Amino acid sequence: MKRVYNFSAGPAVLPEEVLREAAEEMLDYQGTGMSVMEMSHRSKTIEGMMNEAAQDLRDLLKVPDNYKILFLQGGASQQFAMVPMNLMKNRVADHLNTGQWAKKAISEGKLYGKINVVASSEDQNYSYIPDLKDLKFSEEADYVYICHNNTIFGTKFNELPEVGDKPLIADMSSDFLSEPIDVSQYGIIFAGAQKNVGPAGVVIVIIREDLITEDVLPGTPTMLKYKVHLDNNSAYNTPPVYGIYICGKVFKWLKKLGGLEAMQKINEEKAAILYDYLDASAMFRGTVAKKDRSLMNVPFVTGSEELDAKFIKEAKAAGFENLKGYRTVGGMRASIYNAMPIQGVKDLVEFMRKFEAENKK
Ligand code: PLP
Repeated sequence: MKRVYNFSAGPAVLPEEVLREAAEEMLDYQGTGMSVMEMSHRSKTIEGMMNEAAQDLRDLLKVPDNYKILFLQGGASQQFAMVPMNLMKNRVADHLNTGQWAKKAISEGKLYGKINVVASSEDQNYSYIPDLKDLKFSEEADYVYICHNNTIFGTKFNELPEVGDKPLIADMSSDFLSEPIDVSQYGIIFAGAQKNVGPAGVVIVIIREDLITEDVLPGTPTMLKYKVHLDNNSAYNTPPVYGIYICGKVFKWLKKLGGLEAMQKINEEKAAILYDYLDASAMFRGTVAKKDRSLMNVPFVTGSEELDAKFIKEAKAAGFENLKGYRTVGGMRASIYNAMPIQGVKDLVEFMRKFEAENKK
């Protein structure tokens, strides 16, 4: 068996321990003689498994009691529509445009109402987070929307906009559970699982109770009402059981590691190894404003497309997979999610150092 260092932006590396455990339980989960995949979602075993996953997540993020946790489907992209369908009472929302996923949420929101873009970093290819001081929010806006970590461009909100009593909606798909957060500052946090917590097919929604109402936009399908999922404990229809099971195992893995404070320390250490090298290198450089750097997605370039391609090819041959950057940024991107071991980042930097020495002009 061969495992590579997988720097994919998503679906992405998962903890080896979690995958091994799941493999061991594949044919017989907890003495039932069945796989989790084969079991009724109405069974006590699965109900218990889902409740335990929700409780572990609640413990990890210290989710206040007035917030609900939902395990849904449709990916993070489904939330781009579900948020306005459920929350846009005045048919107005304020958005910050900080990258491709933020932009997609804006386009989707426009299907339902007026979207005000209150700040944007599109002018410099999304290489920074706009100044959050003096933002003007619309009086009638139903909520303010941000993409907390911009997977493609490698930026992150290290501070939050001051939104007063408006609910702040955050897409945390690519930095969910990478560090502690104060959930009470948000109205909704959502995250597609396939980066930091599990397989594609699950999207986790943490939502303040008072935002879940029957008063949704006319024509909202049953499956897209938060209230329906809340009333049915995330099992209105057959939930993505296997995905939730893996997420649950990742939550246990995080707890064992020491929780999100411990995870944050490790993530900061990993990111520093890579950023410090990029800052010192004469060949590679990061593409993002330093103050806005993501701990999870690290884009970098050499400045020469030819050299970038050579690097990606040689890195792959050496066991460093999925380092090609997104086409609108070019160059490379190393996604160093929770499950990427420190050694993976150390080895990558060592490889980059060697490549730099061998390819010096
Ligand atoms: N939001 C962010 C920040 C992402 O990185 C992604 C996927 O890469 C998405 C949304 C879309 O997620 P999904 O494919 O689950 O709809």
